[in-house]
Amino acid sequence: MTGTPFVNMHPWDQVPLLDRDGAHRDPESIAAAWGDERSRVLLVDRSSRFGIAPFGIPTQGEYDEHTAYLGRVDGTCWFARRVDELPTGRMIRDEPPDAANTQLVMAALAVLAWHESMTHCPVCGGTVRLASGGFSALCRECNREHFPRTDPAVIVGVLDDDDRLFLAHQTSWAQWRASVLAGFVEAGESAENALHREVSEEAGVRLSAVRYLGSQPWPFPRSLMLAFVARGYGGHEVDHAELQWGGWFTREEVEARTAEGTLVLPGIGSVAARIIDAWRIGRLPVPEENYWADIDAELVVRTGERF
Ligand SMILES: [Zn+2]
Repeated sequence: MTGTPFVNMHPWDQVPLLDRDGAHRDPESIAAAWGDERSRVLLVDRSSRFGIAPFGIPTQGEYDEHTAYLGRVDGTCWFARRVDELPTGRMIRDEPPDAANTQLVMAALAVLAWHESMTHCPVCGGTVRLASGGFSALCRECNREHFPRTDPAVIVGVLDDDDRLFLAHQTSWAQWRASVLAGFVEAGESAENALHREVSEEAGVRLSAVRYLGSQPWPFPRSLMLAFVARGYGGHEVDHAELQWGGWFTREEVEARTAEGTLVLPGIGSVAARIIDAWRIGRLPVPEENYWADIDAELVVRTGERF
């Protein structure tokens, strides 16, 4: 079993615990926040590990534009800075912190990764300077303002008619590791369209019902995972390119194989683990109870038009 499911997912369903403080991102406000002795800096190394024990250290020295201002948690201002080495660093997969600190880590990883790719204007090639506490970049040549990008990805727990879950092993993963299916949304595509395309391409699975569950940032380097549950069939032949193997699992098979070590599921804190754990306790929502289908039918009846 993967420990206590759900606990680290809660922050993504609720009012944010991290206040991104959009009204105080001018240089004067940020300088004042930096100079406040209660303020803290979260250190992140080049392997996306974050500092722990302590989680954040006091601000010191001069503020520089590559130090991101993340916002406030319970009135405390939090910054993030990249460092080369972090002796006590942890990965979010290994040691998810509490809800507020998880939001700080995800914001820090996302914005610091963006800084490393955002050195030149993508429009004119001019150099940029960071602004808004590191959450925007202004081109010195054409004055365009750029913002951190987020790449949407879909992840789906596919159930068959017997309530078995489709688990698959990616070619690049360690032996026995498996998870639910996932893939990136392409340009001009809806998340639902991407879902049908990805599971068909990779696993030969066709979907008869799809239902949205929620989202979670996954800044490795900049994904937003959009989670779904779906009903599917097929899946007898994976592509053998991205996926090495995949298939339908009963709960009993999952329990037996995780116990003997021939199936390794995602660690807590990931949306994949949340989907799998919900299925293991029989609590994944029913894919067919997708309310839009009923509402769309009523809209057509009332307006006489399709959209
Ligand atoms: Zn430019």
